[in-house]
Amino acid sequence: MVMTNIKKSIERYMERRGCRSMQCRAALIDMDGVLYDSMPHHAEAWYRTMAPLGIACTREDFFLLEGSTRTRTINMFFNREYGHDAPEEVSLALYEEKVRQFRALGDAERMPGADVVIERLLAHDVRTVLVTGSSQGTLLELLDTDYPRAFNMPYRITGEDVVHGKPSPEPYLMGLQRAGVEAHEAIVIENAPLGVQAGVAAGVFTVAVNTGPIPAQALYDAGADIVFDSMPQFAAHIDELIETINTKGV
Ligand code: MG
Repeated sequence: MVMTNIKKSIERYMERRGCRSMQCRAALIDMDGVLYDSMPHHAEAWYRTMAPLGIACTREDFFLLEGSTRTRTINMFFNREYGHDAPEEVSLALYEEKVRQFRALGDAERMPGADVVIERLLAHDVRTVLVTGSSQGTLLELLDTDYPRAFNMPYRITGEDVVHGKPSPEPYLMGLQRAGVEAHEAIVIENAPLGVQAGVAAGVFTVAVNTGPIPAQALYDAGADIVFDSMPQFAAHIDELIETINTKGV
């Protein structure tokens, strides 16, 4: 079943992009909700920051906004509540509080199955590149220990490196550039609708792994080429995905 989906999804991508060949030479990988099960903490931290101000919000709102920049996230709620953007100093103070709340929740766990995904990519000589909107040092510092060899500099793009965050294609275009590959020579691995939009806008075959509470349809609606229900499910099929893509090479 999934095998058929993999083949079909690749053919659909090639048809849509009008490309004649494909190779899996690089994987551009999101961090929160893919490498770390950190989204519940992010959502909780945002909720604990915004709700006491009387701003109407739910934890699920923050899952849907995942990948968005600080400014964009805060302004969305300010506009909904007060009809204007948050002044920059207020925005910065709120973000500082969110980071404090996130830290207080303790370390997020590695996403189960993510180690296998990384190990299989490296075994196939696929260049792994981190592409995260996050600038939060907490998790970035853990990467070297948790995923050794996978994301050495310069193969690490964070919120500090880009002007426009996801859903802009900029972070993923930068990822392609760092890896030295074309769009049809890479895959994107994402869990959030805005991140999927960014991967698709960069022209890359975009794998969505649904590791949170949002419906899978939201990921298809964002343009995902294929959706897996969990990282272990993706890990069980990643060899097939890479091998099927590589049979489309010239
Ligand atoms: Mg994510």
